[in-house]
Parts: sequence; structure tokens; C-alpha cells
Amino acid sequence: MSDLRELYQQVILDHNKNPRNFHEMADATRHVDGYNPLCGDHYTIFVRTDGDTIADVSFTGNGCAISKASASVMSSTVKGKSKEEAENLFHTFHRLVTGDTSGLSAADLGRLAAFSGVSEFPARVKCATLAWHTLKSALDGQAESVSTE
Ligand code: ZN
Repeated sequence: MSDLRELYQQVILDHNKNPRNFHEMADATRHVDGYNPLCGDHYTIFVRTDGDTIADVSFTGNGCAISKASASVMSSTVKGKSKEEAENLFHTFHRLVTGDTSGLSAADLGRLAAFSGVSEFPARVKCATLAWHTLKSALDGQAESVSTE
């Protein structure tokens, strides 16, 4: 498992250092601010939807490596997906980082699997899920800002 762990670590470090889709979006359908006051993570998620499809996702902001890598992976994972597919991915991701992996396959997880180690650090779950919570709020058309507290 240690090789796998090393690989996952590399994925997180890479996405933290070179976050994907890390920019504002001028033609966003919605944007929502997400805060995790426990850690100081703060991001704005921009979404452009086309009917039921997430045509584009981007984000700006700052926070710890886990939160930034998670926002980066989230943005590149849900782009082009339907809202329902994105919600299912969030559900899968939430189970992964809280250690409830029974029945989850590698195919379900894809690159989200890099965050499996988070389940050993419960305090970091909010870091890992912040971008997903914020995306969900944007897709649901709810509040303009969300907080993990
Ligand atoms: Zn954090």
C-alpha cells in the first residue's frame, strides 16, 4: 500500500501546486463562496450550466493543500457531467473521505481515490469536501455562500 499512498500524495501535491481550472469565469451561471473557518479555507466556485449539464467549472481562492487539490480534482472531474452525476460523485467522495468505502470500486472512484487517506484525519474531511459542498450549493441555486460550520 505504501507505493499507492506515495502516488496519492503526488496527485494531491501536483493539484495543489498546479490547480486545474483555477481562474474566475466571466460567463458563469452562478458562483458561490465556500468557507471552512476551522482551517481557513476559502474558495469561490464558478459554474456554467447548459440545461442539466455542467458545461464549465472553475474556482479561485486559498486554503490548505487538501482543500485546493480537492477543488482542482472536483472541477476537472465534474466538467461535462450532469448535475445528477456530480451529486453522485460527491456522495461517493464523501463516503471515501469518511472511510465508508464498502461497495465502492476503483471505477467509481477514479482520480478521487487520491483522497482516500483523508479518512484517517477526520479534521481534514471538511477541507476535502468544502469545494464539493460549494459546488452543490451552486447547482442547487441556494445560498451565495456556504460554511462548513
Ligand atoms: Zn483545510
